[in-house]
Amino acid sequence: MDVCNEGLKTELTVVVPAHDEVRGILVFLDQLHAVLSECCTDFEVIVVDDGSRDGTWQLLCDAATHSLWLRGLRFTRNFGKEAAILGGLRHSRGQAVIVMDADGQHPPELVPVLLEQWRSGSAQIVAAQKKSGAITLTSRINTYLFNKTMHLFTGLDLKNATDYRLLDRTVVDTLLAFPENVRFFRGMTVWTGFTTKQVEFEVANRIAGSSRWSTGQLTRLAITAITAYSAKPLGIVFWLGIAGMVIALLLIVQALYSRLTGIAVSGWTSLTIVILVFGSANLLGIGVLGAYLAQIFDEIKGRPEYILKDTTFV
Ligand code: UDP
Ligand code: MG
Repeated sequence: MDVCNEGLKTELTVVVPAHDEVRGILVFLDQLHAVLSECCTDFEVIVVDDGSRDGTWQLLCDAATHSLWLRGLRFTRNFGKEAAILGGLRHSRGQAVIVMDADGQHPPELVPVLLEQWRSGSAQIVAAQKKSGAITLTSRINTYLFNKTMHLFTGLDLKNATDYRLLDRTVVDTLLAFPENVRFFRGMTVWTGFTTKQVEFEVANRIAGSSRWSTGQLTRLAITAITAYSAKPLGIVFWLGIAGMVIALLLIVQALYSRLTGIAVSGWTSLTIVILVFGSANLLGIGVLGAYLAQIFDEIKGRPEYILKDTTFV
């Protein structure tokens, strides 16, 4: 594992996952640097280039040559935001680590507030929460469905939660020590149970470009997050099976009764319903099992979560 946080002389590391952010990243880094220089004397910023195909990496390399506080990691391809966050955490050297987006939607002005809460010693996690929901209608609907599903299956209330959060070194080390491959940053930090404080912020517009999350990607994230976090769906399938059996028993009794009393064959409709309901329930059950099997398969392979191609430092 490429962990290199010996020493820990830095007070704060800001981890920024970035995928195809060429149009906004420099503006963002300028804003961030201005805020950080005001509120912290000893900080570093790690930008993790998650397989960008535009010029993000070249910009980062140029910027890093004259900014000692800036460090860049580059993945061989797009491994996803979760992997990028993990890569940043592994290379962080700060006593506190803030994770934030590269697109300007997580306002840098909030950094001093997060830092203040942590410095006062009242919390090991300071989580920034959205004041209002997502900006576009599709992302509103997507986020709503994602949060509802997550709440139903994992009991986690992620409404208004974001990945914008400060973690104390203890929390970071705890997360890094998890042996599992599949990670869901937002959920995992809540799961650790460390003292958490919430601060609110208004989501800004992107500096440039558009959101990378399609409905398909969010669905995949939800399946990964749910199967990684909770075994509840397996239990639900079990209870569905029990309910199905009870209904089947009633139907058997009814069928036998009709046979014995010589009532004419009743019901093509009921037969069709039974076949359809039980057929689809079977498929659903197999699907749920399949999702867990896929999760176990991924874990058992034990492949790295990402592969580094380059860094701006040695
Ligand atoms: N991102 C990433 N890898 C990806 C997708 C996104 O590192 O595969 C980064 C992206 O550059 C941004 C952050 O994750 O800094 C949030 O992405 P985005 O703005 O697309 O998501 P949203 O704000 O809609 O949640
Ligand atoms: Mg965004």
